[in-house]
Amino acid sequence: MVAKIIVGMLCAHLLCFGGMFLLISSRLQGKKLGMDVFALANFLLSLAYVLQLLGGPAGWNLMSVVNHTLTICVSAVYWVGAMRFFDRPVPLWRPLIALAVIYTALQVLVQWSLGSVARYAMLSGVSAAAFLAMAVTVIYGVRTFAKDLRVEMVLFAVLISGICVLNAAKFVIVLSGGLQALDMGNRFQMVFYIYMSFLATVLAPSMIWLVLRRLTDDLRAMAARDPLTRLLNRRGLSEGLETYFHSRTVPPAHLFMVDIDHFKRINDVHGHKIGDAVLSHVADLLRDTARKGDLTSRVGGEEFVTVCLETDVAGALRLAHRLRAAIEGHDVPIRGGTSIRCTATIGVSQGFASVDEFDRAMQQADAALYRGKEAGRNRVERSSDGEHAPAI
Ligand code: GH3
Ligand code: MG
Ligand code: MG
Repeated sequence: MVAKIIVGMLCAHLLCFGGMFLLISSRLQGKKLGMDVFALANFLLSLAYVLQLLGGPAGWNLMSVVNHTLTICVSAVYWVGAMRFFDRPVPLWRPLIALAVIYTALQVLVQWSLGSVARYAMLSGVSAAAFLAMAVTVIYGVRTFAKDLRVEMVLFAVLISGICVLNAAKFVIVLSGGLQALDMGNRFQMVFYIYMSFLATVLAPSMIWLVLRRLTDDLRAMAARDPLTRLLNRRGLSEGLETYFHSRTVPPAHLFMVDIDHFKRINDVHGHKIGDAVLSHVADLLRDTARKGDLTSRVGGEEFVTVCLETDVAGALRLAHRLRAAIEGHDVPIRGGTSIRCTATIGVSQGFASVDEFDRAMQQADAALYRGKEAGRNRVERSSDGEHAPAI
């Protein structure tokens, strides 16, 4: 009786959270973070438990065959959900249907050749293997695609290993004790169901926490980026500088103010849309030419700021010249096979060693840029000591 109540509660829990996952996925446009798949897995697992409650003692009947197939499919569906959460476009329906057909056929074959005990042992053995594979995937994730969720992933690996161990134990118990070992009132089965309830209680809110984390991280990343070029915006640049200067004693940074020459003319002649394409093109060149770790941002219409880190004045100036040459050397392809040549003028600040000096570095670079424009554009100008932006 107690076991039936636990399993009943487990069903209610799975259905509730399945509904919640579905609601969350309906709010997420495009990227569903695997929530729709987790909802499906919860519904299938609760169906498997309903069949177990209705099916009576273990034995060869249609309900138990469906129950076993559902149980195996559920672990695959959870795995697909987890992969989709991490942006892996793993297919669901075809492999799932194939798995269901293959496992059902396997059940018939094992039942026919070896009997019920072997069929039940096979369920536990295959489940143990599936959860082992899942735990290994999670551990692999900690080292690769889920580095930012280390603590959560380790917790999942531990919890999943628990089901793996319980299924392995069940495999041995069924083989040695026969089908009586699967009686719902049996001590081992009680432990099994209590653990599954505990798991459902812990895992479901953890999934919601993961979604919340992913969404807030995405929001933070969006707030730090310029939507047109995907470069950092002014806020993202400040955050990047804070991280750089906060973490350790570092060499001074150098700031480049990059301004496209006669950009208004490009807009006037070719239209705003082509103007946007030129901005994206220049942004790509800046990103690709700057060194890994340098900060590249768009701070205004056709104005970009690159902050060159971990180098001396000579290295910074070399990079500024490389950026200028890259922009001059790569025409922007537009429709009809034609292309636009564009150039940029770059003002380089003095070295600066803290976030507090950022505004001053911007003024210095701006003043140098102004000089570069006056001197004919398409050049790199370095700020001289004590130089400030001219009053406009
Ligand atoms: P200079 O060589 O002196 O820098 O001249 P300029 O024409 O590049 O500079 P100016 O400041 O006169 O013009 C900048 C133009 O950039 C004006 C504005 O319409 C355009 N602009 C600003 N933001 C955007 C944008 O997001 N997309 C497009 N296409 N144009 C923009
Ligand atoms: Mg300009
Ligand atoms: Mg400008």
